[in-house]
Amino acid sequence: MLDIELKAVTKTYPGCNEPAVKNLSLAVEKGSIVTLLGPSGCGKSTTLRLIAGFERADAGSIALAGTIMSNGNTWIPPEKRGVGMVFQDYALFPHLNVFNNIGFGYKAKDRNARVMEVMELVNLKGYENRYPNELSGGQQQRVALARALTRRPVVVLLDEPFSNLDADLRVHMRVEVKRIIKEAGATAVFVSHDQKDALAISDRIVVMHEGDIQQTGTPKEIYQYPDNKFVATFVGQSNILEGKMGKDEQSVITALGVIPCNHTHSLKAGEEVYISIRPDSLEMDEDGQIEGRINESIYTGESSDAMVDVTLENGRKMNLLTHIHPEEDVKVGDMVRFKVLPHFVAVIRHD
Ligand code: ADP
Repeated sequence: MLDIELKAVTKTYPGCNEPAVKNLSLAVEKGSIVTLLGPSGCGKSTTLRLIAGFERADAGSIALAGTIMSNGNTWIPPEKRGVGMVFQDYALFPHLNVFNNIGFGYKAKDRNARVMEVMELVNLKGYENRYPNELSGGQQQRVALARALTRRPVVVLLDEPFSNLDADLRVHMRVEVKRIIKEAGATAVFVSHDQKDALAISDRIVVMHEGDIQQTGTPKEIYQYPDNKFVATFVGQSNILEGKMGKDEQSVITALGVIPCNHTHSLKAGEEVYISIRPDSLEMDEDGQIEGRINESIYTGESSDAMVDVTLENGRKMNLLTHIHPEEDVKVGDMVRFKVLPHFVAVIRHD
């Protein structure tokens, strides 16, 4: 069953020439976590605000739990949509304690019991009487999430919820927020420009660019089999080359040589394609087919991000980004050889 369904939704802000969201269709299964991922200005927040009812679409329809919320004839206001919202800055009321922040606007008979129930869900029992300024960033986020869940919303919408957290807490809260949403049985849409957030928390990722959807898929599909150059370079890093499908339809002929690949979108021999080679698909090997000189190396702890200057078969030069294992004894200026591991190599159709 679908909890959220957008059909051909378009929104242009007054005074703007380009739509913020163009003819966008999106379906979110009940109980799933979906992330709208893309660079700043691509229309993620607008999509979220359209679902919440804070903005009105110029065209298209929006349904929640099978009921139309917005189309040419119908308009359901935000407070009647059954939507819980978590804002980037959490938007807690500074003069209300945790209990009253969480119970804000919830007037049902079971208020006490329900607030205590969600406090337990978000691991905040015992903090009832604290005020927001007496809480850490992670605790404030738990309060915001608990408040969004109190009314048992059909969907929870979260706008960049991790952007105010420092790196360690962010990693922890990704796991924790996912657990809380799954335990609450909610359907959730996140907005994020951070691919790590998206890969870690989502059942499905929707990659957006300039108001359009570029690709929808599981985190693995998006990372391993990007549909186009934008997705390949926005979600993770990649080396992109032009090529032609080989006769075996399992390899691509490029100026770097014949590159084996596992996932080819069933493209036929001879077709012009692009190929995306992730830095982790290049492994140092003295018998490897690719030779180049290291011209930059940045140590990151788990590996070294190295740029390798390679001369292609057509005489042109190219910088390949690779991850070199920290145990390898190499430095800038060294000549090295690499082999290509086929599992992170993706073939991309020409646009
Ligand atoms: P994102 O969330 O991906 O950063 P937004 O949905 O906020 O993108 O914005 C999409 C486009 O719409 C951008 O070009 C932005 O400048 C424009 N935009 C967003 N909000 C408004 C607004 N209230 N008025 C006019 N233009 C807006």
